[in-house]
Amino acid sequence: MDASPTTPLLQVKACRQAYHKDSSADLVVLEGVDLTLQSGEIVGLLGRSGSGKSTLLRIVAGLLAPTAGEVIWRGAPLRGPAPGVAMVFQSFALFPWLTVQENVELGLEAQGVPRAERDARAEEAIDLIGLGGYDTAYPKELSGGMRQRVGLARALVVHPDLLLMDEPFSALDVLTAETLRTDLIDLWADGRLPIKSILMVTHNIEEAVLMCDRILVFASNPGRVAQEIRVPFQHPRNRLEPAFRQLVDDVYAVMTRRTPVSPPTPVAAADAPFAAPLHHVSSNLLAGLMEALAGPPYEGRADLPALASSLQLEADELLPIGETLQLLRFADLEEGDIRLTETGRQYVHAETEGRKKLFAAALLAHVKLAAAIRRTLDERWNHRASAVRFRDELEDHMSPDYAEETLHAIIGWGRYAELFSFDEEAQQFNLEDIETAA
Ligand code: ATP
Ligand code: MG
Repeated sequence: MDASPTTPLLQVKACRQAYHKDSSADLVVLEGVDLTLQSGEIVGLLGRSGSGKSTLLRIVAGLLAPTAGEVIWRGAPLRGPAPGVAMVFQSFALFPWLTVQENVELGLEAQGVPRAERDARAEEAIDLIGLGGYDTAYPKELSGGMRQRVGLARALVVHPDLLLMDEPFSALDVLTAETLRTDLIDLWADGRLPIKSILMVTHNIEEAVLMCDRILVFASNPGRVAQEIRVPFQHPRNRLEPAFRQLVDDVYAVMTRRTPVSPPTPVAAADAPFAAPLHHVSSNLLAGLMEALAGPPYEGRADLPALASSLQLEADELLPIGETLQLLRFADLEEGDIRLTETGRQYVHAETEGRKKLFAAALLAHVKLAAAIRRTLDERWNHRASAVRFRDELEDHMSPDYAEETLHAIIGWGRYAELFSFDEEAQQFNLEDIETAA
């Protein structure tokens, strides 16, 4: 049944997604997510890795039923894959043995559209997206940007009401991504895309401000909409305009705001050594950022967007580094700025050995996992401990991916700080070649 024009295209109501874990607690990926999409708008989901953005897209597409809550699609509860929704993925997901035309037609074949109409519609979509003349090419003959155009054509050919895009430009180089973004927005603004609305996931703040009418900033652990930001600009937008820059700054500020304490975390767990996932950021990157920050023109304090662009980093590359420096108390993040602390300054001015000592002290004082590993090693007669047990404990509090990343982070930092060593072959922490207190 078709809904009236005032009915939202999509409503997500109080969605929760949890994965069962072997221990007592579930891994809650999404909690209390509400979202309404109207015809005619592009909405962005902006959030850190692991905050549940892709999970939400799969729920919206009807590929995953939420643990609780519901999805209303065109006025009716959604059960199973949503008709009229198409998805574009980050990786191009093309079939290498099919031509461009055949790849594009796939969606229509599934719908049982007759051959002649399939051909005509595929050609139309291929032309629209700027691939005219490449119908008979194979994916391996195409550049990354062209392959992603095929992915877009394949989604558009079914004339979906809603186009879902999961980081559609993040696998492309900077220039190609920008061309594809602006081409897509031009088509959208001209009303030439056979769709009513776009919901897109991105890590890229500028991309969100460039393309979207609304940006939903996702918080992690569990994933939920922390803030909605309206983007009041007409297309085409100019990245250099002061109002555009200001909005990018504002979004940065929202994203660096210290995450409000999330209610579902059990009180005891929040403080436990294994509760907090760590970013896998190398000590080199941490040192590099502190050095850049200490020097001119920043002299210890920088606007994050400015720093990101001068270092040619995306927001989601810079923020984990900034957050790690904050965790170690080498820097503070506040309202879109990053500021070196006194310890951070000492680090920058110290020699190699002095830096390692400062890093070790910061790890022991502020990273409970590092302290727990070191304590375990000190207590054992052979000063060895298997990584498996730490991984198991981490996995009680976070997904296996996060546990893995957290372990990598702590191994790298511990080695650098000479707090402990790690034997890759045996997968064991140990104190070999480490100066012990006793
Ligand atoms: P990214 O930005 O890295 O793509 P994301 O925001 O899209 O991250 P999701 O892929 O939605 O995040 O994953 C959210 C969390 O849910 C992660 O911790 C992930 O490990 C976990 N997760 C996803 N699918 C499953 C599953 N089938 N079983 C258990 N955990 C899962
Ligand atoms: Mg994702």
